[in-house]
Amino acid sequence: MSDVLRLSAAQAADAIAAGSLSAAELAEAYRSRAAADRAAGEDGLNCFTWVAEEMPEPAPAGPLAGVPLAVKDLFCTAGVPSQSGSRILEGYEPPYTATAVSRLRDAGATLFAKTNQDEFAMGSSTENSAFGPTLNPWDRARVPGGSSGGSAAAVAAGLAPWALGTDTGGSIRQPAALCGIVGLKPTYGSVSRYGMIAFASSLDQAGPLTRDVTDAALMLRHMAGRDICDATSLPQREEIALPNAERLEDLRIGVPTELQSSAAGGAAIEPGVRRCFEQALERAEELGARVQEVSLPHAPHALSAYYVLAPSEASSNLARFDGVRYGLRAEDAEDLLDMYTRTRHDGFGAEVRRRIMLGTYALSSGYYEAYYGRAQKVRTKVAQDFAAAFEEVDLIATPTAPGVAFALGEKTSDPWAMYLSDYFTVPMSLAGIPAISIPCGLSAAGEDRSPPAPHGGLPVGLQLAGPAFSENRLLDAAYALECSLGFDVTACHV
Ligand code: GLN
Repeated sequence: MSDVLRLSAAQAADAIAAGSLSAAELAEAYRSRAAADRAAGEDGLNCFTWVAEEMPEPAPAGPLAGVPLAVKDLFCTAGVPSQSGSRILEGYEPPYTATAVSRLRDAGATLFAKTNQDEFAMGSSTENSAFGPTLNPWDRARVPGGSSGGSAAAVAAGLAPWALGTDTGGSIRQPAALCGIVGLKPTYGSVSRYGMIAFASSLDQAGPLTRDVTDAALMLRHMAGRDICDATSLPQREEIALPNAERLEDLRIGVPTELQSSAAGGAAIEPGVRRCFEQALERAEELGARVQEVSLPHAPHALSAYYVLAPSEASSNLARFDGVRYGLRAEDAEDLLDMYTRTRHDGFGAEVRRRIMLGTYALSSGYYEAYYGRAQKVRTKVAQDFAAAFEEVDLIATPTAPGVAFALGEKTSDPWAMYLSDYFTVPMSLAGIPAISIPCGLSAAGEDRSPPAPHGGLPVGLQLAGPAFSENRLLDAAYALECSLGFDVTACHV
């Protein structure tokens, strides 16, 4: 692999600014690799839903000038297909660009590819895409996680220097963990949702999928902040700084009692994941942190509440796909109602239909209080638990996912097994707080009930979460751990 592809986004930006790297050369290196993956069809990883035929002129100036950027399919990008992984939006080219993308472009980044995802971001494996599953570069028989699986696999495989994703209940952190890269879900409201094709608006948040923590900080820094086009966006309390901590002195890390076991029907943690997680905590202690138990009594109920709230919001958000305004329209309909029905039947995949039915049921009169109203109360309790815990500790640590990357097809017929992948990530989403996943080791063959993977093991993610707007502290802690753990993120570059 050529040396330019080994550079992180921050290193590439510096080299371009210093004149030692040609932006055009870097862009073409990534564009041609991405195009080859796309052309390879089933022989590739299927990371992309669109790749630029020609690279646009790299921006002449700006802090990210000349750094290529891959973006999850669900971000609207003017004149470029934006399909949210769905047949119903196949070929749809919006007339405008999402704020997160346009801010990165204004800072100099160049959009070169759109990445594959679960349809409307519903899923944990990228198998729900209308454009076929993405494969995990660590082991092509396995999923990359989801729903931002195309972004995660592209970064892990060295097909993109970094990528933009979204996280509603774990869709940045869980695929980052399963692909051995860094994924950050910022505080709800830090990044504008304008131009993101909505799944569950009170939870959706854009964030970076990157090779290292510095790149995550760099990307967030250039897209965060208030946007008049999104009334839920918030001004940053402080600028996102590039992390530089070496030690974790004075940092109190809480490990939630309730998120360590299969409490309340939750997810059993695989032995390899538990070992890597415990080793990462020991490392944090060596760096000076104090690790202690904390309690999040309602966290075990977060997943159930999420699977009422997210489908409820989705059923409302997806009502707009009626064949009149966007994408697909069923032919030969008898009348308007028939056209709506057939378009939605043909255009939505099975998981999306399931969520719409769940959501409309939960919101229906007579059941609203029993389901939606109750789930909202649980959401408040979950948020209150975090607030109480952050009186005692600075950050909270959990494994990002209960297991390593699972086999393609292993969970497709069992939605609940699939949903459990987000057991540790959903509570933070309900509370709206920031959380990062960093790779903390490899689960060895045999530790996770599965055959040896080609790269000697499968990556495990460590999740760190902090109070709202604590991104700088979170990034610093993640950076110190990253430096100490020394995980090789380029190990499975293709
Ligand atoms: N896997 C979860 C779901 O299917 C989370 C998805 C997401 O964060 N977009 O809802």
